Amino acid sequence: MKFKRILLKLSGESLMGQKGYGIDETRLAEYAQQIKEAADMGIEIGIVIGGGNIFRGLTGAGKGFDRVKGDQMGMCATVINSLALSSALDAVGQKNRVLTAIRMEPIGEFYSKWKAIEAMQRGEVAIFSAGTGSPYFTTDTGSSLRGIEIEADVMLKGTRVDGIYTADPEKDPTATKFHDITYEEVIARGLKVMDITATAMCMQNNLPIYVFNMDIVGNLKRVLSGEDIGTLVHN
Ligand code: UDP
Repeated sequence: MKFKRILLKLSGESLMGQKGYGIDETRLAEYAQQIKEAADMGIEIGIVIGGGNIFRGLTGAGKGFDRVKGDQMGMCATVINSLALSSALDAVGQKNRVLTAIRMEPIGEFYSKWKAIEAMQRGEVAIFSAGTGSPYFTTDTGSSLRGIEIEADVMLKGTRVDGIYTADPEKDPTATKFHDITYEEVIARGLKVMDITATAMCMQNNLPIYVFNMDIVGNLKRVLSGEDIGTLVHN
């Protein structure tokens, strides 16, 4: 695989590191360093971060929150994470720009495809925050949408497992890993790679997804150098 422009999806939960809530500074710094290494390879990078380390609308709704307000809280959580990543990238000398799906200057610039592409072509990492800007979606769908819009070659989904398995490898020791799999099979088998909306969008628009373990330092560079360490989802 050879990539010119990527969309990197990071989960909010991974950002917690060893903590039970919020942001682990060590994990954040590791991510920033890995992203800088990727940018130094000349690759154009767009990033979507989740917010699950702070708030999820669906969990909130289960506790009595209004779903739409809960989702808005979740979107705000992704903005917090995006600002944290932006700050960590600044600290390692990597230029970057926070774009928001909801107007909130001066926290970030209001997203548009062309602003994002111009930033990436200038060598800045574009951080897409606030998901899609609408409730009832996830940041997985946000990253499918942005990945398709910015014409990324691939969506790299950085997780804490090294790919897609037949079952949850943390619970089932007999689970085996897929080298590659079709979107259809992901949906048919009910594999929890991404939600169906996000998977269907990638399928319809031919955006390949590569799932890998981003929590091991150096793995992002390995993937970008062509090492086959994860699972590819394709048509
Ligand atoms: N969210 C939303 N619309 C979007 C993206 C996110 O309403 O387009 C809300 C939703 O409540 C979600 C929360 O933001 O639960 C955090 O995002 P997500 O759960 O995707 O984070 P992750 O699981 O990747 O940490």
